[in-house]
Amino acid sequence: MDYRKALKDKKRIVIKIGSSSLTHEETGNLNLEKMERLVRLLTDLRNSGKEVVLVSSGAIAVGRKMFGFTEKPTDISGKQACAAVGQASLMTIYQKLFSEYHQLAAQILMTKYTMIDDTSRQNARNTFEKLNELGAIPIVNENDTVSTDELALGDNDTLSAIVAALIHADLLILLSDIDGLYSDDPRTNPDAEFISVVPELTEEYIHMGKGAGTSFGTGGMKTKLSAARISADSGADMVITNGNNVENIRSVLNGEPVGTLFLAHKIPHFHLINYISGKGE
Ligand code: GLU
Repeated sequence: MDYRKALKDKKRIVIKIGSSSLTHEETGNLNLEKMERLVRLLTDLRNSGKEVVLVSSGAIAVGRKMFGFTEKPTDISGKQACAAVGQASLMTIYQKLFSEYHQLAAQILMTKYTMIDDTSRQNARNTFEKLNELGAIPIVNENDTVSTDELALGDNDTLSAIVAALIHADLLILLSDIDGLYSDDPRTNPDAEFISVVPELTEEYIHMGKGAGTSFGTGGMKTKLSAARISADSGADMVITNGNNVENIRSVLNGEPVGTLFLAHKIPHFHLINYISGKGE
């Protein structure tokens, strides 16, 4: 079976973009041109009959710039203040860009509690379902302004996999600041080999993940591999690809060998709750 070609038929797709992909590396300011291309592409996917959910980071990165902080705050209330200002600003920009294509965009902010509590989880699922019926593209982030340490999922790689599992998506695409999974960290080891397909997430692959990242992003390969575990077990394929070029989304959906593809292995009786940290695994 050609696993890449099978990606053409995916219908319900969650796409995650991280802060480092949304911002200019040199300044940390938003890369508006890239956001425009992303919004146009997502609208076009929706126009072609696919269901699309965007998980977007950037609240803290944008808020930090608006306050004029040179570093990301390390204290919780500092981060929350940045997120409160930044999330509103980020959504204003998304709404403006989507409205140029007459595409409705909605905001969904979630916490770990949304997933742990049965009623909240069901409500969230219903909201996604309804937004899809009504033709809107949900834009999801963690509700950082109220997520304290115990309640925080902490990174949007995990959040996007949880969303994919919640809505029974068949594909999750993570736009990252590297091309995909390597056998070792390519920034420090020139002999690191690129992995195109991970048929099954064995210990060997998990060892390849390194907790690297930029000052604007949160996760590294480690959180992406945890996302791959949730995604695969829930029955969704996952692709990590470079967010430098948002057209990579199109290439993935055309079945081209772009990024690293993690194949789904749906486990019987998958229970999302078991994958929320602190709730067993
Ligand atoms: N929720 C955070 C934000 O929007 C980002 C978390 C992450 O980058 O994984 O700023």
